Amino acid sequence: MVKASPLKKLEQLEFSLDSVTDLSSSPPASPSSPAVATFSCVDGVTELRFLQPDSTHCFTFDLASAQLFKLGTVQFICVSDDNSEERSFSKGVNIKFGSEKDSKEFCDSFEEWRKDALVPGSSIVSASNSKFDEKIEASSAKMYFHYYGQLLHQQNMLQDYVRTGTYYAAVMENRSDFAGRVVVDVGAGSGILSMFAAQAGAKHVYAVEASEMAEYARKLIAGNPLFADRITVIKGKVEDIELPEKADILISEPMGTLLVNERMLESYVIARDRFMSPNGKMFPTVGRIHMAPFSDEFLFIEMANKALFWQQQNYYGVDLTPLFGSAHQGYFSQPVVDAFDPRLLVAPLMFHTIDFTQMKEEDFYEIDIPLKFTSSVCTRVHGLACWFDVLFDGSTVQRWLTTAPGAPTTHWYQIRCVLAQPIYVMAGQEITGRLHLIAHSAQSYTIDLTLSAKMWGPGASQGGILQSSTGKFDLKEPYYRMSQPQAYPAAQEPPLPPQPQLNPQDIQIQSDDFEEELLQEPAQNAIWLRFHRDAYWRSANTVNGLGLSGGENGGYEGTAFRRDGKRSPTGLRSSAIPSVMASPPSPRKKGTKTTNATTTASMIPCGVDPPPPPTTP
Ligand code: SAH
Repeated sequence: MVKASPLKKLEQLEFSLDSVTDLSSSPPASPSSPAVATFSCVDGVTELRFLQPDSTHCFTFDLASAQLFKLGTVQFICVSDDNSEERSFSKGVNIKFGSEKDSKEFCDSFEEWRKDALVPGSSIVSASNSKFDEKIEASSAKMYFHYYGQLLHQQNMLQDYVRTGTYYAAVMENRSDFAGRVVVDVGAGSGILSMFAAQAGAKHVYAVEASEMAEYARKLIAGNPLFADRITVIKGKVEDIELPEKADILISEPMGTLLVNERMLESYVIARDRFMSPNGKMFPTVGRIHMAPFSDEFLFIEMANKALFWQQQNYYGVDLTPLFGSAHQGYFSQPVVDAFDPRLLVAPLMFHTIDFTQMKEEDFYEIDIPLKFTSSVCTRVHGLACWFDVLFDGSTVQRWLTTAPGAPTTHWYQIRCVLAQPIYVMAGQEITGRLHLIAHSAQSYTIDLTLSAKMWGPGASQGGILQSSTGKFDLKEPYYRMSQPQAYPAAQEPPLPPQPQLNPQDIQIQSDDFEEELLQEPAQNAIWLRFHRDAYWRSANTVNGLGLSGGENGGYEGTAFRRDGKRSPTGLRSSAIPSVMASPPSPRKKGTKTTNATTTASMIPCGVDPPPPPTTP
C-alpha cells in the first residue's frame, strides 16, 4: 500500500513494506516485521529511511549514493556507502513488498528521487565516468556484452567440460575456502560458478554480470531452490556496481585466448580491489602464458597461399596485384587459433606468470616478455606458439586448468603467431626475442613479436650476424583454423623436421654482434620428440569432444568465422560443441609434490602429464 504525502511531491513519500532485513550486521539479521520506507528531502539532502514501527531502529540512506538492486518481482537490495574516501559500502538492506504493484511504484519513485539527489561530484559511479567506459570503446563493449547475453555462447563455455569440470573440482576439493564465506562471482554469466560456490557451502554469493545474461542467471538460480536464497544476482559491471559487504573469496572465469584477450582480467583485479577483504582468496589465483617456437610448413604455406588471390592480373579484367602486399600482410597479422600437434614445437617452452592477487590493473596495459629458447632440432622456425594455464590455489588442493597442446582440448585451443619470414636454426642454437602485448580499446591486444637467432654456417665466422624476423598481430582478429592434426600411426616415427636450406634471400641480416656457439644434443632431442609423439596420442582422437575433426576442406575458411558459422563479434573465444566428458587434470594436494605443469614444465615442453600409452593405433 502506498501513501503519498498530500504535501509537495519532493517533501515526503511513504511505502509500506512486508519486511526489511539489515544485511550489514554479521550474522545477517532475520527478516523484520512490516516496515515503512520514506523518501524525503530535508535541508537539500534527499534520503530514504526504513523504519520498523515496533522498533526504534531506523536505516537512513543518502540517495546521492544509494543503489537499488532487484532480486525478484517483490524483493530488492538497497545499498549505500558511508561517504568515506574508500567508497566501500557499509550499509545494506533487503526489502520485500506485499505486491508487485507496490514494488514497481517504489522502484520508479527511487529512480525519480535519486535523480533529484544526484549532484555533480557525487560518489555515485555513473555510466559516463566508469573505469570500464573510460578505456573501452562503447561499440566494442556493446558487442561484447551482446555476445555474452546469449545463451548459446554461455552453453558453449558450459560444454567445455575441461573448463567447467576443472572449476567444479577446484571448488569442491576446496570446500573449506567457500563454506560459510561471502563469495563474489566476477562475470557470473549463467551463474554456474555461483552455484558451485553455493554447493560448496558459501554463506552468500554475489553474482555480478553485466550482460543480459544476468536475467537468465536469475531464472536459473531461482529454479534451484537449494541455492537460490544464498545467491544474489547483480546486473552491472564490477567496475560500477556496489556490494553491501566484503568478500572472502572471488571466483571468476576471466580468461580469453592468450589468457589476456577480452581484457577481463583487468575487471577481475578491479573487483579484487573493490570487493575482496584483505586476506581474501582468488579462484583462479595465478595464470601463466606459455610460449615455444614452432615449425609448421603446412600452416605457413596455407597462410601465404591465401594472399595469392591478389596475384591475379586479370580478375574480370582487373589487375588485383596492387593489393597483394596488403593482403599478405593482413593474413600474417592474424594469430592462428587451433589445436596443434605438440610435436610442432621445436624448443622447450618458457612461461610468464601473472599473479592475479598482486597484479595492478595498469600492469595489464602493456605486457613485455623477453624470449629465450634453445632449439632442440635443426629446422625452420615459423613463429611462436602460445597457450596458458591458471592455478586454483586452494587451501586443500592446488588444481591447474591447462590449455596446453597435447592436453585435453578446451574452447580456447592454442594460438600461434606466424611470422611472414621464418628463421633457420640448428639443434642447440639459441632463439631470442620479445613478445610485447599492448592493450587496445577494443578489449584486446596488439602483439609485437620478434624472434632472432644467431647466424650459423660460413657467414658466422666473419663476425656476428643475426637473423631476425618480426610480426605484428591483432589478437582481436584471429584466424580460427579448426583443422584435424594428422595422427601418425603408432609404429611410425614422426617425420624429420624440415631440414634447413640456406636460402640467402630468406634470411634477414640485422646485427653483427655475436659469438658462434653451437650445441649439439641429438640424444636429448630424440627423447624430446618421442615424448611429443606420445603426448599427441592422448589428444588425437578428440578430447573434450572438441572439434578436432575438421571439415572436408581440412578446416574453416575465412578468418573470424566461428565453428557454428556465425561471425564472432569479438574475436574472443572459440565456439565448441564438445560431447565427451574429459577427466580434469590431476590435482595437487597441499604439501605434496605436484604431478602436473608446476614442476614438469621445465622437463616437458608442453607442460602436461606424461600420457598413457595409446589405446587405439
Ligand atoms: N562465469 C561464467 C561466465 C564466464 S564468461 C562461466 O564460467 O560460465 C565471462 C562473463 O563475464 C560474461 O558473461 C561477461 O558478460 C561477464 N563480464 C565481462 N566483463 C564484465 C564486467 N566488467 N563486469 C561484469 N561482468 C562482466
